[in-house]
Amino acid sequence: MASLEDLLKFTKVVESSVCIEESGEILRRYYRFRASKNYGGSAVGDVLGCNLGCVYCWCWSINSKLKLGDYRKPKDVVEILLSIARRDGFRIVRLSGGEPTLCFDHLVNVLKIFASVRRSEIFVVETNGIVLGVNDDYVHRLKPYRSAIVVRLSIKGCSEEEFEKITGFNRSVFYLQIKALENLDAEGIPYTVAIPISFCSKNSFSKLVEILTQRIGDHVFSYLEPEVFILYPSTVRRLCRKGLKPWILYEPITRRKIGRGEVDEFFRELCREQGGRGSEGS
Ligand code: SF4
Repeated sequence: MASLEDLLKFTKVVESSVCIEESGEILRRYYRFRASKNYGGSAVGDVLGCNLGCVYCWCWSINSKLKLGDYRKPKDVVEILLSIARRDGFRIVRLSGGEPTLCFDHLVNVLKIFASVRRSEIFVVETNGIVLGVNDDYVHRLKPYRSAIVVRLSIKGCSEEEFEKITGFNRSVFYLQIKALENLDAEGIPYTVAIPISFCSKNSFSKLVEILTQRIGDHVFSYLEPEVFILYPSTVRRLCRKGLKPWILYEPITRRKIGRGEVDEFFRELCREQGGRGSEGS
């Protein structure tokens, strides 16, 4: 099982591959800009590179090709995002794909420029929270932009054990995400907590809620967002190989929910097609 130290080393390796410094400014690789239906319509910049490798990640394969895309300056990123948002009448702009908090100076500059030129647009920072949990001062650096941003922190599993299964990193790393949430709450930065309920047991979910309310307060309830796993074809092979399956999922091609009683057979068939093993138990 990879340790926190391994994770920090890996983070540095990814950062050095996807970011460069040019005239005192940090540029980051982006592999795509697009309009998305999520959040009722949003302009998205897909950054390259992540410090985790979640089993259910839809962009894992892209994020492992660290030479894809082009280096972008913060100013150009904001211009592109706002031009998509204003063209399509969206209020939300966001970074997705990889982990936006890598190369943190780049992100801070993007937010600084965004906050200075936005009208009513809001910037959603989607993150796994690890970098924000490791570096206390990073959350503090987001504070000047709090009226312009919402941090959407996606917890990886509801317990240390589930975190290990999903990410392959040691269970102690799980608590860095909780620490990041505490920091965000303490600094008064708007945030939401995405919980991958499809990979959580009832027991682990209730324990997580207890931990969050104890460490943050009952008001955290208003920020929780249950997230049902969407079965993108790119995720199937890794799930089968790792023997991990959700207890509920949404299948976007046939547009149907696969729930308890159906998942076992559904995954056995999927994994057979992949030549992997059918998974038992999540
Ligand atoms: S944190 Fe997000 S981008 Fe990174 S591997 Fe996990 S799901 Fe993918």
